[in-house]
Amino acid sequence: MRESTVRIGLVLPDVMGTYGDGGNSVVLRQRLRLRGFDAEIVEITLADPVPAELDLYTLGGAEDYAQRLATRHLQRYPGLQQAAERGAPVLAICAAIQVLGHWYETSSGERVDGVGMLDVTTSPQDKRTIGEVVSQPLLPELTERLTGFENHRGGTVLGPAARPLARIISGAGNRAGDGFDGAVQGGVVATYLHGPCLARNPQLADYLLSRVVGELAPLQIDEVDLLRTERLAAPRRV
Ligand code: GLN
Repeated sequence: MRESTVRIGLVLPDVMGTYGDGGNSVVLRQRLRLRGFDAEIVEITLADPVPAELDLYTLGGAEDYAQRLATRHLQRYPGLQQAAERGAPVLAICAAIQVLGHWYETSSGERVDGVGMLDVTTSPQDKRTIGEVVSQPLLPELTERLTGFENHRGGTVLGPAARPLARIISGAGNRAGDGFDGAVQGGVVATYLHGPCLARNPQLADYLLSRVVGELAPLQIDEVDLLRTERLAAPRRV
């Protein structure tokens, strides 16, 4: 077992973290602690440079203006890019998939240069896509359907270096009509799913963690199973 504390970077929760996305870091920490690992969350705000030496990182969604502040900060302090280059897992939710891409266009049509960690670009869709999403992951390590909530105007297109995280079963995902959600490239896993995503999708949480601490013992949490049963059925009720 690992001797040192696992350090989880919660990146810019002061500007990125809609719909409780900060909860993803809490889920990661708790799933480690329940298995006997020491783990802590390191909050990185706009007042801090971004450290490159943390074990894994999470970023949440944001409104357009807040998203721009985050983009500028990540360009100025490239710790996240350096961490991803050495293989540290990064979970990017919604606005974060846009920020980590080459560029995104805001709802008003202005193009903003992104961080360039993901081979994706984002432009406004005709309508916001809002609602429950269910998808089938495309990574071989992930066998369970993903569930989440989406609310975004941006529609994301993947280039050849990024592959989609999942095939849409219901909802929109990256862009209405495309049929896929998210992007995977190197250590980065990105998705439009809020929820928080990892509270609803423990297999994805353990996939990220296992890349830091190695294979993990299974964890049975009945409340999580109940939540998944309820949420996976939710789109059919709408
Ligand atoms: N502002 C972005 C959009 O509307 C992201 C929204 C979000 O993160 N929920 O596309």
